[in-house]
Amino acid sequence: MNKKSLLYNGKSKQLFATESSEYIIMCFKDDETAYYGVKKATIPNKGILNNKISSLIYQYLKDNGIHTHYVEQLNEAEQLCRRATALPLEFIVRNVVAGTLARRLDIEEGTIPKKTIFEICLKNDTLRDPLINHFHVEALGYADRRTLTEIHEILCKINDLLLNLFKKIRIDLVDFKVEFGIDTIGRVMLIDEISPDTARFWDSESHEKLDCDLFRRDLGNVEVAYKEVLTRLEKFLCHG
Ligand code: C5P
Repeated sequence: MNKKSLLYNGKSKQLFATESSEYIIMCFKDDETAYYGVKKATIPNKGILNNKISSLIYQYLKDNGIHTHYVEQLNEAEQLCRRATALPLEFIVRNVVAGTLARRLDIEEGTIPKKTIFEICLKNDTLRDPLINHFHVEALGYADRRTLTEIHEILCKINDLLLNLFKKIRIDLVDFKVEFGIDTIGRVMLIDEISPDTARFWDSESHEKLDCDLFRRDLGNVEVAYKEVLTRLEKFLCHG
């Protein structure tokens, strides 16, 4: 499969058409952004690291029954994916209070909620991805109730699978953001990526951050942390 026209040029990824209308190529960039593009930098090897991390995670989710757009890793920074019509929504799953939730409700970061927290944001950089709820989603036509119910079930499965996986590699899965699309035959499908750019990973023993907060908050070497996540995933998923 070869790259054809550029379909989308995002902050951290590009999507290219291929000779098949069923497939796209997703290309990971080294560009890092935070606060809706206000803070920017280039992190060496970040595209390669996130492509490898996300490929391993998506293959693991696929192997465990989650319908994803991921087909295969093509090379260091690119992967082949199934085409979908993306919903204009971001779904955040939180196992530990951190980030905007900690700030918004003035709760100490690291607090464990009684239950997993699910949030929906409208994907819109200009509006800074505002938090909305399922009433807005249905009433404003971003998705229907059946799709939302199905997504909630898939999110619960993904969270259980990821909690299990990351526990094995001694990482606390604090939170993550995912996106969904509708595939060519009308099924709900997990799209986009799961990486330290889109999730919070804390080392289970040292509680050290191994994710994009290192960049957002100037806390340390992003490349080293992302490499550590990849090494642990490879060791567990590829070498048993
Ligand atoms: O910043 P906030 O606490 O809302 O982020 C929750 C989770 O969602 C974090 O893992 C963050 O990396 C991810 N996120 C994302 N893209 C966004 C907003 C949040 O990947 N636009």
